[in-house]
Amino acid sequence: MQIRATQRLGIIGHDEDARASSETLDSNRNYDAIVIGAGVAGIYQLFRLRELGLRVRAIEAGSTAGGAWYWNRYPGARFDSESYSYAYSFSNEILDEWNWSEHFASQPEILRYFNFVVDRLDLRRHIQFNSKVTGASFDEDSGHWTVVVDDGTRLTTRFLIGAVGPLTVPTPPRIDGIDSFKGEAYHTARWPHEEVSFDGKRVGVIGTGATGIQTIQEVAKTARHLTVFQRTANYCLPLNNSKIPDTEQAALKARYPELFDRCARSANWFIHDPDPRSALDVTSEERLAFFEQRYREPGLGIWQGNFYDTMTDPAANGTITEFVRQKIRERVEDPVVAEKLVPHDHGFGNRRVPLETNYYEVYNRPNVDLVDLKTTPIKRITPLGVETADGLVELDMLIYATGFDAITGSFDQIDIRGLGGLSLKDRWADGPQSFLGLQVAGFPNFFMPGGPLSALGNIPRALEYHVNWITDVIIYMQDAGFGYVDVHSDAEAAWTEHAREVGRVPLSSKVSSWMTGVNTNVAGKEKRVTVMYRGGAVAYRKRCEEVAAGGYKELEFASPMDWAEPAPIRSATL
Ligand code: NAP
Repeated sequence: MQIRATQRLGIIGHDEDARASSETLDSNRNYDAIVIGAGVAGIYQLFRLRELGLRVRAIEAGSTAGGAWYWNRYPGARFDSESYSYAYSFSNEILDEWNWSEHFASQPEILRYFNFVVDRLDLRRHIQFNSKVTGASFDEDSGHWTVVVDDGTRLTTRFLIGAVGPLTVPTPPRIDGIDSFKGEAYHTARWPHEEVSFDGKRVGVIGTGATGIQTIQEVAKTARHLTVFQRTANYCLPLNNSKIPDTEQAALKARYPELFDRCARSANWFIHDPDPRSALDVTSEERLAFFEQRYREPGLGIWQGNFYDTMTDPAANGTITEFVRQKIRERVEDPVVAEKLVPHDHGFGNRRVPLETNYYEVYNRPNVDLVDLKTTPIKRITPLGVETADGLVELDMLIYATGFDAITGSFDQIDIRGLGGLSLKDRWADGPQSFLGLQVAGFPNFFMPGGPLSALGNIPRALEYHVNWITDVIIYMQDAGFGYVDVHSDAEAAWTEHAREVGRVPLSSKVSSWMTGVNTNVAGKEKRVTVMYRGGAVAYRKRCEEVAAGGYKELEFASPMDWAEPAPIRSATL
């Protein structure tokens, strides 16, 4: 896909569009495009639309840009995709100027990166921080969205971009007495900006997903005592992180085109791609040697770059499942504890695989206990700690690493209303429906990079693609003189059905997790539904490109307009 706007305008040091340069955040209420969120997608979308000459604003809840990497500042937070595979690929200048210090960078460095990009592209003046969009409704007469911000401000915009992120809304557990706890309590996704000390404290962590694992391995180092409350064991794999010495920066940068190309051609936008062999077509010695090699390599290669059938064929999956189970047993000294850490209710890779650094060795420390909630459930939280079926665990601090109302949750938080006042949340009550994950029928001029039923995986690579595709639709409208775009409902229905059909293929579709739309802490999200496109990034991109090459027949364009004229100032009412 071409980045047409950057070719037209040049990206850095471009001539300011007259309308954009005359704008100030304080004086304007009327926009061509409002982007909700200044995270990974929002930053890039804001840039692309500003480069088209649109009057743009992003509304961001955080006090600076970075989205997930602004909020998730818990101890140990870091990438588990390679830093350079996670970064934006669209600007050679940015690629050249930014040096990653580690193959898997930590959160402070990541946050610095996204803010470096914002400043390098001169986007900060277009971002309204510390502000939440609470509602947005489409006015059929004017063809504009009215957007309501939590300070009561109403803005109007022709295009509305929900760059709200798939993992944004933290969900504390639904446990009786949660508000009664008298000690310190934190959700990992709302971690304080000040340093939190674990020194001399009795700390409890609830949750052992990718976040819990990163948190636990840090807290264990200094806490007087750590109790981990585990409901479902996961297959965790070594991150095998290392520094990138200054002497290797130039060589790494020279490989960027190849690395991004590899991501583009891979199944899930990672630099890892499945091995073309079946796990069952090689000898057991070859298989073991292959698994051992992958286990020693950095990153998610053992999950994303395994034999091609390990995620779809139960027998093939069984081979890698047993291998990782054995690794856990080898690393944990107490066989009883080890067996609690070995997952028995799902096969390897059927839930998001957490990457770790000495995670299993944490359980060899004298200051760490593991509570298996499957056999010893939590009864309630009390002022003093966590009461389980075995009695009270007294705590000074309780950390909830209990995840997110994923994929649709961040849209559900906003009262988004399309044609006829239809609410998006109601529209998705039985599971999300969309076209390519990017648009919803009946919600004109509304786009969602990373939306439900889009292809995700290595998320920034996916988001960059989504933003490019969305921007191309808007360029098409500029060129053709349209001011309105909706999706034909049959095109949306066909994509939704296709996504649900291919979503049944991976073994992961039979397992509950946020990737199958389940969150036991959110009413109505107990049932498995298709929330993302599982047919692979290559097939996804092929379909997106077919739609564009076919002249967007699946979309309905209307409202002739002269894009050269600034939009008239309108009164902003809901
Ligand atoms: P998660 O994978 O949804 O894990 C939540 C954990 O909390 C699970 O262990 C869950 O148990 C447990 N839990 C939830 N409610 C509970 C309750 N009421 N009682 C007891 N336990 C409860 O969330 P996450 O770890 O925050 O990770 C979400 C996603 O964020 C990851 O899958 C990953 O995609 C992304 N992430 C990425 C990185 C990175 O790139 N480096 C780091 C962290 C996270 P059950 O499993 O039984 O539900």
